[in-house]
Amino acid sequence: MLPFKLIYHEGYDLNLGAHVFPSQKYRLIRDRLLADGIAGPEDFLAPEPAADEDVLRVHSREYVHKLKTGSLSPAEILQLEVPYSAKLIEACWLAAGGSILAGRRALQDGWAANIGGGFHHAYPDHGEGFCVIHDVAIAIRRLQFDGAIERAMVVDTDVHQGNGTAAIFGGDETVFTLSIHQVHNYPHSKPPSTIDIDLPDGIGDADYLAILEKHLHRAFHDFAPDVLFYVAGADPYREDQLGGLALTIDGLARRDALVFDYARRNGVPVAITLAGGYARHVTDTISIHVGTILAARDAARIPSTFAP
Ligand SMILES: [Zn+2]
Repeated sequence: MLPFKLIYHEGYDLNLGAHVFPSQKYRLIRDRLLADGIAGPEDFLAPEPAADEDVLRVHSREYVHKLKTGSLSPAEILQLEVPYSAKLIEACWLAAGGSILAGRRALQDGWAANIGGGFHHAYPDHGEGFCVIHDVAIAIRRLQFDGAIERAMVVDTDVHQGNGTAAIFGGDETVFTLSIHQVHNYPHSKPPSTIDIDLPDGIGDADYLAILEKHLHRAFHDFAPDVLFYVAGADPYREDQLGGLALTIDGLARRDALVFDYARRNGVPVAITLAGGYARHVTDTISIHVGTILAARDAARIPSTFAP
């Protein structure tokens, strides 16, 4: 039914219970896609967990050892802001495997979406802000290792700056990173991305879209990636509990369409990941994430210069 594959695993659920991070959202997105007839069961692929050697291309051996043996310090767990469990680690390795698979399918089909991932606050040696390991960086490093790509671009529209992405790829000319975010928000320390777009509080659809377009133009002028990883946070939404911007659900769909339009016109395959979303009503977060899939579907149906 869809012109590309959706990557999903029931193990994506971090089982956080009453946490502000609605980790059941992955299942709810899948259910909505099926219930609304947007996707059929045949459109979904289940990922394998990432291999440890894939994770170790991004993360330090010491950190991975702590994650796998449950030996993080209380301070390290506090910084994660999610409770540690063996299930959490399983979910994170699955999400990383999902982003690797999304990258591969994007190269094959032009488009793919991981109904998960986008854990852009994870650093090589620690996790923070609900992000344990950096699935997008792990996927990019794996695709580079396989010789499937040389250059990647990360476009991150989560309301929070992609500090982990910036830290991992800083000084690496093969990976171009663009983050558009609310400047007066987490993370406190924002290592520089290739392009950082620092937005003031309360910005709405029209201003946001105009600023994003200007910088996408520059990004694609300056850099020709082999693949685009899109970190499609739902939290620039005006009713987000952890965000301070004022985009509407329709504005967020237009944001996605804008990113996809630039990728399509430049012949760049797109791998989507979801990232954050903390709307007062979880159904809004689901609608925003489903809107990203619909925007990709519409873009994928337009004939493009991309030739697999
Ligand atoms: Zn966020």
